[in-house]
Amino acid sequence: MSLSEIRNWVFDMDGTLTVAVHDFAAIRVALDIPAEDDILTHLAALPAAQAAQKHAWLLEHERQLAVDSTAATGAVELVRELAERGCRLGILTRNARELAHVTLQAIGLADCFDVEHILGRDEAQPKPSPDGLLKIAKGWGVAPQEMVMVGDYRFDLDCGRAAGARTVLVNLPDNPWPELVDWHAADCRALRMMLG
Ligand SMILES: [Mg+2]
Repeated sequence: MSLSEIRNWVFDMDGTLTVAVHDFAAIRVALDIPAEDDILTHLAALPAAQAAQKHAWLLEHERQLAVDSTAATGAVELVRELAERGCRLGILTRNARELAHVTLQAIGLADCFDVEHILGRDEAQPKPSPDGLLKIAKGWGVAPQEMVMVGDYRFDLDCGRAAGARTVLVNLPDNPWPELVDWHAADCRALRMMLG
């Protein structure tokens, strides 16, 4: 199957459609999370009150990043092109759904995604779990094999593979995970060119 034949597209948001701005090291320091720990996994293991407090801090921190976000190279043109071709479009993010919406508004793409097809960390198990991708597939009534997951990090690719979907890596000049990647593009502009 060629890329242009794929009708069902799910995007990671931060660092894929936007310029990456999260300073995860600083977030870990602020929330007293060990450097080697995954942030969401760490928070999930805390006592409820402590977890809630830290989630609230994270949400406020990320809200400001969302308001200030800028589109990644070629991202707006790629998504609009896919929308014009009648492709189904979804977002699967480890960020919160409401902040995904704020981010999409900031970069001018909010009208391209239905809110029900934007899954954040409260709507699905976070990536690398395939849970969110499988939920979107079910919602669309398509097989995961007919979907592509586009992302800038290994969690996006692991998620895609675990779901049985195709995968695209963008925004990394090299491809550090060739075994997990079906297509690699330097950025969304290059990916749009690959659509033909
Ligand atoms: Mg990302």
